[in-house]
Amino acid sequence: MIVAEMVKSSEVTLQNYKSEQKPTWCAGCGDFGILNAIQMALLALNIPPYKALIASGIGCGSKLPDYINANGYLTIHGRALPVLTGIHLANHELVTIAVTGDGDGYGIGGNHFMHAMRRNINITHIVENNQIYGLTKGQYSPTTDKGMITSTSPEGAIEYAVNPITWALAAGATFIARGFANDPKKLTNLIQAAIKHKGYALIDVLQPCVTYNKQNTKEWYEERIYYVDKIPDYNPKDIKKAFSIGLEWGEKIPCGVIYQTEKETYEDNLFQITEEPLVEQVVSPSLEDFEKIKSKYY
Ligand code: SF4
Repeated sequence: MIVAEMVKSSEVTLQNYKSEQKPTWCAGCGDFGILNAIQMALLALNIPPYKALIASGIGCGSKLPDYINANGYLTIHGRALPVLTGIHLANHELVTIAVTGDGDGYGIGGNHFMHAMRRNINITHIVENNQIYGLTKGQYSPTTDKGMITSTSPEGAIEYAVNPITWALAAGATFIARGFANDPKKLTNLIQAAIKHKGYALIDVLQPCVTYNKQNTKEWYEERIYYVDKIPDYNPKDIKKAFSIGLEWGEKIPCGVIYQTEKETYEDNLFQITEEPLVEQVVSPSLEDFEKIKSKYY
């Protein structure tokens, strides 16, 4: 658990989001761009470090909370979303962001991913999607393209890759975007939009892993990526169009805000937190009584 220092929002500069920890990522890793974009987005929205909390799982990108000065929680593999859900419900005034990899978020944490979306809890989920398990030396992941040779698929991966965009659409996510780690300016804008969105917001970020994924390189992505806001009359509220765009992969890869709609959030229906966050409320019974009750069981 990492606790950020208090800084007034009027005094925040980019420097306030910098951590003393030096990233251990490989030179050229896309995670650097994602880290920068999160810092820039928090600054642009004038959110001081102590008002943001970033939870992660396990993986190269899940080291990110160590490299940013904000509250942080490094959980276990695949569990960033349920832990962050608990944190958010305890203090829904915090800006809560989950940062996971593709294996962590779509594989090991796939069940949590699906249910966070249908609940429409007000958190931002940034998935560093490098289409491989980088930390554990290049095994194929849920987003590895079929046929790709990896350390666990020497003859080529035999499974079909998941499509996070259409999965999120089917599960009821209310904000679905895709970004590119090597385009931090556009990614910063997407993260700002996701934080401002009321409800669960997914940003699937294409993130080159320069060490273990020699197929989906920066250049490979750059040749294919386009932004949906360049499509004349593209309406992110049109779910049918979002589905057809979301199916695109390979020759053309859509980025930007692919879908966005408004729906009640999970918190909207919790009368217990209408007035103030749980952390501000007086505990009843008192902590003393609670300790007495607890002592009966330990
Ligand atoms: Fe980044 Fe890949 Fe290196 Fe991990 S192994 S730090 S994902 S480049």
